[in-house]
Amino acid sequence: MAKKDKGFLSDRFGRRISYLRISITDRCNHRCTYCAPIVEKFKKRADILSFDEIVRIVRLMAEMGVTKVRLTGGEPLVRRGVEDLVGMLSEIYGIEDLSMTTNASLLSGLARGLKQKGLRRLNISLDTLKPGLFREISGGGELKPVLLGIDAAIKEGLVPIKFNTVLLRGTNEEELADILDFAADRMITVRFIELMPMSDRIDWKKNYLSIDDVLKRGDIMERVDTSREPERGSTAAYSLPLRSGRGNAGFISPMSNRFCGQCNRMRLTSDGKLRSCLPADMDVDLKAALKAHAGDEELTLLIKKAVSIKPEMGVYTSTGEDTEKGMIHIGG
Ligand code: SAM
Repeated sequence: MAKKDKGFLSDRFGRRISYLRISITDRCNHRCTYCAPIVEKFKKRADILSFDEIVRIVRLMAEMGVTKVRLTGGEPLVRRGVEDLVGMLSEIYGIEDLSMTTNASLLSGLARGLKQKGLRRLNISLDTLKPGLFREISGGGELKPVLLGIDAAIKEGLVPIKFNTVLLRGTNEEELADILDFAADRMITVRFIELMPMSDRIDWKKNYLSIDDVLKRGDIMERVDTSREPERGSTAAYSLPLRSGRGNAGFISPMSNRFCGQCNRMRLTSDGKLRSCLPADMDVDLKAALKAHAGDEELTLLIKKAVSIKPEMGVYTSTGEDTEKGMIHIGG
């Protein structure tokens, strides 16, 4: 088997890499305050990985033990032909779990095609259920199409669905319990995410709300059973059961409590940099190698090199001022 020939991808700390997140575009139809930079410098078309290049990289990584792929961005649904890419990726031997993170604004028209082409499940960003606040946070986006997108995803069976809700002090803080209820009614899990300093448009210190503070709130304690042992994920995530018995709530604490020890992921940026850690600037330029007509053997070595420089822990040193390090480029 090819997998045995090439060996598994493991880093210096013995962590086996099985998960790849791919930012398939740096463009987005929303301008979220915590994500989009003030000055937008989009990559040129020629510098963005083509579908064939993405498929080639994923095939090589699948041969070395990657089983899980998530498409993200920017907004993955603004990339033309995204369903075709999903179809190509879902046919790669070894890829068992193909998912996507989306703002869902374009989902209602695409959910069926994505499901038919092999997408399994979705994470949907949802920070508020108030149309006015939604417009404010997303820089002019509308809530209605997002809600229609969520309905379409449920209807097409793109499940389990998870909501990503970024915690914003004084903005959606009072609404978190309502979001939990809205999600539980639809068998959706909410994952509350601590704000990371990734954008120059928001004052991180002023807006940051920790998971610990959320778990001290009476309306959250009423709903989440904090007496139970949390179920830990691979990185900074854990989940606790809802008291109603209608599923779990997830808590992602990249700022207050990282668990990098079990990190199993790599990230591929839209312009082909294979990045070993979200906050650390450690990457290998696969697009340059592809432009220079690298063969599979050379690409395999570069992929192994990118994994070998994975840091033991990610530390957020960026204040969000460097747009090259922003979420839209790296992919959240
Ligand atoms: N456009 C898609 C979306 O909105 O889901 C995918 C890309 S977005 C960068 C992926 C995730 O990153 C979203 O769930 C978003 O909430 C999260 N994210 C972006 N900037 C963040 C920040 N500064 N802190 C925490 N999460 C952030």
